[in-house]
Amino acid sequence: MKRFFIEPSETIKEFPVIKGPEAHHIAGVFRLKPGDHILLVDGTGVEYEAEIAACAKNHVQVSIVRQCLPATEAPVKITVAQGYLKDKKMDMLVRHLTELGIHCWIPVVTEFSVPNPERKKTDARRERWEQIAREAVKQSGRTLVPEILPPIHFSEALDTAESSHAKIIFFENETDPFTQTVAGITRTPLDIFVFLGPEGGFSNEEITAAAACGFLSVSLGPRILRAETASIAACTLIQHLFGDM
Ligand code: SAM
Repeated sequence: MKRFFIEPSETIKEFPVIKGPEAHHIAGVFRLKPGDHILLVDGTGVEYEAEIAACAKNHVQVSIVRQCLPATEAPVKITVAQGYLKDKKMDMLVRHLTELGIHCWIPVVTEFSVPNPERKKTDARRERWEQIAREAVKQSGRTLVPEILPPIHFSEALDTAESSHAKIIFFENETDPFTQTVAGITRTPLDIFVFLGPEGGFSNEEITAAAACGFLSVSLGPRILRAETASIAACTLIQHLFGDM
């Protein structure tokens, strides 16, 4: 069955309605008809099987058949703080890290990241990233849309990580093997704050400041990975060690 988004506020009604682009996808693109069954995600962690009751171009009325609880959300909440990369790379990272099951994504301005993004531009980019995340949730069978926060500065990211059960910063000049460094995390953390650098990498001062805030500095091996490769590798490793991969 095809999956579509529905606003959470609609799912409590007797005959929920899907409007706008999702309705157009149902009626116009997939040409589904009354009586057809579809899956609906509201982005808050719930999925429904529904039957189409009425179908118009931008307006589809459904009746909920049953609530499903697919096991597609990771048991650990992974927050990724990403040193600001060039736009296209950020778009690609939102898609791939959503598929990998992260819970929250924060663009971070660091000492060596791309020049400080202007406020109005980042608002538009953030809306685009939220749309990319929603599409990736639909495609990957997830039910929870990762939270995309507005850009913050490095020091604010350290503060944001304060309450996390585990804090890991991936540093290209780290030499201790990853498994040795994280061996110190004995209990499976409920939430992990993961920090990755921009194309220019982290400064030594940033790594020192992170260590002072309880971050473990870890290596992804002896090769210098591109920033976007490192983020995908890091989240895969974290999901393998503490999550559901
Ligand atoms: N400018 C740095 C240099 O030339 O040494 C490279 C930075 S790398 C392109 C971008 C980010 O990816 C790094 O800040 C780090 O977070 C991560 N990264 C890349 N390779 C890594 C490795 N071998 N170990 C740990 N992190 C790595």
